[in-house]
Amino acid sequence: MAVSERVNNQQSNSPKFRVLLLGGTAEAFALANKLAALSFDIISSLAGRTQNPKLPNTQTRIGGFGGVIGLKNYLTEQKFDYVIDATHPFAKKITENAINATKELAIPLLRLERKAWQPQAGDHWTFVNSEAEAASLLKPKSNCFLALGKQHISPFANRNDVNFIARMLEPADSAKKFNSIVQVIAKPTNSHDELRFLQKYQIDTIVCRNSGGKQSYQKLIAARYLALPVIMIQRAALPEIVTVETVEEAKRYLLDTRNRLKT
Ligand code: NAP
Repeated sequence: MAVSERVNNQQSNSPKFRVLLLGGTAEAFALANKLAALSFDIISSLAGRTQNPKLPNTQTRIGGFGGVIGLKNYLTEQKFDYVIDATHPFAKKITENAINATKELAIPLLRLERKAWQPQAGDHWTFVNSEAEAASLLKPKSNCFLALGKQHISPFANRNDVNFIARMLEPADSAKKFNSIVQVIAKPTNSHDELRFLQKYQIDTIVCRNSGGKQSYQKLIAARYLALPVIMIQRAALPEIVTVETVEEAKRYLLDTRNRLKT
């Protein structure tokens, strides 16, 4: 995808502290707006996966960088002092690229990653490390809810003995590879509607990723109520990097860092 730039009227008055914010999440959007309001010289970056992305009130660029080398070139050309990786917990590639590029250029990196969910009393979760592992654990003839998004369902297509209900924002091309699949084009809702959804499709197993956050958690509240088994795909382990879990913590961290550099 061609890289596009949008320059808005939020111009920098702090050119000595230039920040690249890798986004594509609600947290990145909120943080970008908060930092813009504090006159950070900030460019938000999106992968360009969605047609009409909601753009923050910062300069924005859209499209991949071209791997670690492309990212390193961009960071050098644009003279960034700081990188914030606020991408999705399962966007592993861009996070790895950010770690490698900033390490090689000795640019500080902050990771903003929302907290992973933890099982509560009454939950029946089995933890796995991949979609393929989750697929291997499904019982024959089960009615399985895939709460994964359209890019992540294909590892389940070889389970011809399972009925799948996949809820997604857009239909998946890979659906045609499945023996039995119902595609539900919808977003997660509140726990009452999630309960109705699970009952309507007679779901007996849920597969999801440990994305964290409130909205996607509602199905897990409903699953607890019904005592349903959940196969939970865990996040990949990352090298040690400075990490915060909330937008507020990230904002404070950046303010402290900027103040430290000024003195
Ligand atoms: P990914 O597998 O980690 O990244 C694949 C490639 O997309 C990267 O190597 C990079 O291309 C480009 N890319 C990803 N994020 C970028 C960003 N913020 N700015 C510029 N380029 C970016 O990521 P993904 O899972 O495809 O997710 C893509 C985007 O959607 C991420 O920004 C993420 O925050 C957002 N998102 C992902 C999920 C999810 O479930 N994975 C959910 C919600 C939102 P180059 O190598 O060419 O630089």
